[in-house]
Amino acid sequence: MLNGKTALITGASRGIGVAIAKAMAEAGADVAVVFNSGSEKAEAVCSEIKEKYGVKAFYYQCNVADSAQCAELVKKVTTDLGGVDILVNNAGITKDNLLLSMSEEDFDAVINTNLKGSFNMIKACGRNFIRKKYGKIINISSVSALLGTAGQCNYAASKAGVIALTKATARELAARNINCNAIAPGFISTDMTAELEDKYISSIPLKRAGAPEDVAALAVFLASKASDYITGEVIRIDGGLAIGG
Ligand code: NAP
Repeated sequence: MLNGKTALITGASRGIGVAIAKAMAEAGADVAVVFNSGSEKAEAVCSEIKEKYGVKAFYYQCNVADSAQCAELVKKVTTDLGGVDILVNNAGITKDNLLLSMSEEDFDAVINTNLKGSFNMIKACGRNFIRKKYGKIINISSVSALLGTAGQCNYAASKAGVIALTKATARELAARNINCNAIAPGFISTDMTAELEDKYISSIPLKRAGAPEDVAALAVFLASKASDYITGEVIRIDGGLAIGG
């Protein structure tokens, strides 16, 4: 389905990003696995992908909050894999606190990684996409953006920003055959949610957490030809958590 394409996935050393990298590879794409601190994990992900799916897989360190590192990353990926066709902005952090107790540092850190990081990566890949007249950009937002979850004013604002970034990017780049969509996951079992699981399950209509693989399947759909006429869309994958949100 994705043969001949190259997918770059940020935050692919753990959690949802790993599942997306594997699913893209299973669909036939070569993959660029991007990590920030987890180099051993990223290396292991690439080894498994190459062995299981027979595609090319390279891993790269990049702090997505740093625009120069993002530009350098895309240069390296272009040298190794011939460019980028699919960009998945998945890297993200939380630093939860009630608004009045939240430090300026924690607000900035979350905005800089989640929102500015996505902007940095779209900008770094943009010329690549325009030259090819092809690109699929998939931004990982969150239902927190739709619900305005208490204790997450920084995170909710960053992920709402990602939705607005998605829509504006979709409009700006549509004429160049570039699609840009957002996925808004609900509660997905990863390191990020490990401590919260029991508290939230009862509020999910499907009464269970999602798996990283659920999100990965949707990302592959948005990277594939099957979604060519979808752009600027936000798709919830949340077991019904934010129905109507
Ligand atoms: P996770 O398990 O905590 O993994 C986060 C990933 O992001 C790691 O690979 C980490 O890399 C990377 N990362 C963090 N800061 C980075 C930076 N500055 N530059 C580059 N990479 C960075 O998170 P997850 O649960 O898989 O979440 C993945 C995405 O889905 C995030 O955007 C998150 O907000 C979103 N999401 C998750 C849920 C959920 O329930 N899990 C729900 C809604 C949305 P290193 O480990 O290498 O440092």
